[in-house]
Amino acid sequence: MSGETLREKLEILADAAKYDASCASSGTARKNSLGGKGIGSTEGMGICHAYAPDGRCISLLKILLTNHCIFDCHYCVNRKSSNVRRARFTPQEVADLTLNFYKRNYIEGLFLSSGIVKSANHTMEQLVEAARILREEHDFRGYIHLKSIPEADPELIDQAGLHADRVSINVELPTRSGLSRLAPDKDEAQIEGAMDKTKARIIQAKDERKRFKHAPRFAPAGQSTQMIVGADAASDADIVGKASTLYKAFGLRRVYYSAFSPIPDASAVLPLKRPPLMREHRLYQSDWLMRFYGYAPGEVAQATEADGNLPLDIDPKLAWALKFREQFPVDVNRASKEQLLRVPGLGTTAVARILKARRHRTLRLDDVARLTQSIAKVRPFLCTLDWQPTMLTDRADLRALLAPKQEQLELF
Ligand code: SF4
Repeated sequence: MSGETLREKLEILADAAKYDASCASSGTARKNSLGGKGIGSTEGMGICHAYAPDGRCISLLKILLTNHCIFDCHYCVNRKSSNVRRARFTPQEVADLTLNFYKRNYIEGLFLSSGIVKSANHTMEQLVEAARILREEHDFRGYIHLKSIPEADPELIDQAGLHADRVSINVELPTRSGLSRLAPDKDEAQIEGAMDKTKARIIQAKDERKRFKHAPRFAPAGQSTQMIVGADAASDADIVGKASTLYKAFGLRRVYYSAFSPIPDASAVLPLKRPPLMREHRLYQSDWLMRFYGYAPGEVAQATEADGNLPLDIDPKLAWALKFREQFPVDVNRASKEQLLRVPGLGTTAVARILKARRHRTLRLDDVARLTQSIAKVRPFLCTLDWQPTMLTDRADLRALLAPKQEQLELF
């Protein structure tokens, strides 16, 4: 048993959890109120933000139960061959910390993940126990997100879902070959089998709740997963294809993309550099296109460049529109909602406003400008009563006109 204080453990285990993107952290400048000076410390070890099912942004205590691990995933700072300081919370300590932060109004819930210590079952039991103490002994009603270990017995994953609002099982890498090369102890069939059982259990619980008001809830905020981007050679087209299969097969709420970050003493099989963070952002945008804008995965793949990756300088919707210019311009006054959603620069809110406004009058360019954020971006792709952009849409330099200008940063 290590002799770290609770604060030291928190430092180690909150830091170790930062590589998990499945509750997206928000970046903040470090300030602290040590020495009793100032209020509003943002040092906040292990506090991240996530979105609740109703769209609210909530703060979560994001920690690992332990960063000891018997597995040796090459990309992971906590792998058994990694030379990092290790620490371990007991389930009781996790519960106490959560309650402590919660009572001080720092957090609204807990995101708990873990390295695998002793065995998958032992670790899963400990994760479940922390959640059980919170729910059953303290009647904790805050948000709980538990990371499930696919190698654990299904009964334990089941227990996790009974206590947690959301459960997630990381698929880790977009291809089977990438997984067997970089995470040799993990198995794709096992990961997907656990996701499938979780999906079935979520459906069953929803069904039971419809029939019996007091039937137990099971992961009411659904399940999610995370994929690491840039640690293997998988292209954005591969990643988008995998994400879409996961959404369809397992009814996931979210797929999170985490740009691989180089770690200390990295294995030689890993790339030396992290992929550009913009790549992660473009993947989130493409995910959005599939979930809210009606694009098929194959259409997102059409927006990629020769190497299968999405362009970094323009968003995937604009990249698609530039490749399929024959689909534009669309007539703002007649086009269907689906067509309008394909216009670069028109979001779901702007499209809803346009559809509402055109019930009352025929729209001019000025009207659209009032309903959208940037008329410059949408102008080449639509026509209105007083605007026909035919020549503009066909211009060879349209991409250069629309791509954000690269700016030299001021050094002094
Ligand atoms: S199982 Fe793999 S990814 Fe998870 S903590 Fe262990 S080494 Fe890291």
